[in-house]
Amino acid sequence: MTPGDIAIEGGLVWTGPGEQHEDGLVHIQEGSVVYAGPRSGSKVPPGTPLLDAAGCTVLPGLIDAHVHLTTNSDHQHVVASDVFRGQVSNPGKLLHGLRNAHRALAAGFTTLRVMGHRGVGEVELRDFIDAGLATGPRLLVAPWWITMTNGHGDLFYPPYTRRERWDTADGVDECRKIVRLQAKEGADFIKVMASGGMSKGEQPHWPNYSVAELATIVETAHELDLKVAAHALSADGIRRSLQAGVDSIEHGSYLDADMAAEMAERGTFLVPTMAFNDWCQREGTSRGLSLQGVADLAEAHDRTIESFTMAREAGVKVVMGTDASGTLCPFGAHARELELYVEHGMSTDEALTTATTSAASLLDRPDIGSLRSGAAGDVVVVKGNVLADISRLTQPANIKHVVRAGRDLSACLKDVSAALDI
Ligand SMILES: [Zn+2]
Repeated sequence: MTPGDIAIEGGLVWTGPGEQHEDGLVHIQEGSVVYAGPRSGSKVPPGTPLLDAAGCTVLPGLIDAHVHLTTNSDHQHVVASDVFRGQVSNPGKLLHGLRNAHRALAAGFTTLRVMGHRGVGEVELRDFIDAGLATGPRLLVAPWWITMTNGHGDLFYPPYTRRERWDTADGVDECRKIVRLQAKEGADFIKVMASGGMSKGEQPHWPNYSVAELATIVETAHELDLKVAAHALSADGIRRSLQAGVDSIEHGSYLDADMAAEMAERGTFLVPTMAFNDWCQREGTSRGLSLQGVADLAEAHDRTIESFTMAREAGVKVVMGTDASGTLCPFGAHARELELYVEHGMSTDEALTTATTSAASLLDRPDIGSLRSGAAGDVVVVKGNVLADISRLTQPANIKHVVRAGRDLSACLKDVSAALDI
């Protein structure tokens, strides 16, 4: 027996879209799946550590494709976003990020696509976890968001804030260079702000960047085998992003039927991030948002639900992403996004696919989000039948085991799970 060997026996094993096995077996050797299917279909060598999954659902480790790991505090330490950004040091932000990462892992999310925060050390944290020096989910990181002057992301900072070179990029030459700089920093993907947002001093309907600037970003990123995720709420922002050839539209609140058809044709993914607005509608005012702020988000939330329906009707691939950011839409509460997808028309099987195989395909990582032979040995064992009731995933007490690369981390995540007051 070597580290990373484990067998998960019994339980309802969901190996991917439309494929499930009652009384199943998942066998992981040296951190990778060697078998997943009916228990009768394979023999496990004596001495292999066993996890009993009777009465549970066994899923591939889940993927949240849109999180902000270090832009706000751990859920239990409530700090207003602007105070956190302006007054917490970068090492402090990273420590909150590590805590956020542990909360995600304890909830069964073994991979996070991190939307970037310049200079905080997310890339270093990713490498530290990959090297086995810290316990955490697998992180795929954009080193920082690409934004134009006066764009979403630049307007997070008040006008008197001293800005450094490459905090923003304007014009095609700077856009080309900033992508290359990020690739050199170790980017797994590129995040660009292609429309306004809900920050102070901006309107979500404002487009950010011209088609020429966006196309330069996409072309430069693709030459370096990096995908491009575009924050785009407004119709103009989405239209320009599609014209430029981005790989995913994040939020996509003001999508229309024509754009949805274009996304389906081009194979552009939609990452709806419903959970953030849903959380803010329910908890926003107790977390420092104004009544007006919550009302503004309500409209975007309604529109996001319409976009989601339109996208599904057109055949657009949806990938699960929450916009989790700590105090608002806390880490650990990710599965609410899946519950919302089911509330708005998806089957449980489809919803799970958005957080597994579809997410892996957007991330260009066929080794995760599935239990096929050779895949990373990331597994979550959930009490009860998740396929009959997706909301089981949202309750921390139901997460029985989280396995990462064949190692059962349940014992070391116990304290985190106990503290998940979500
Ligand atoms: Zn976001």
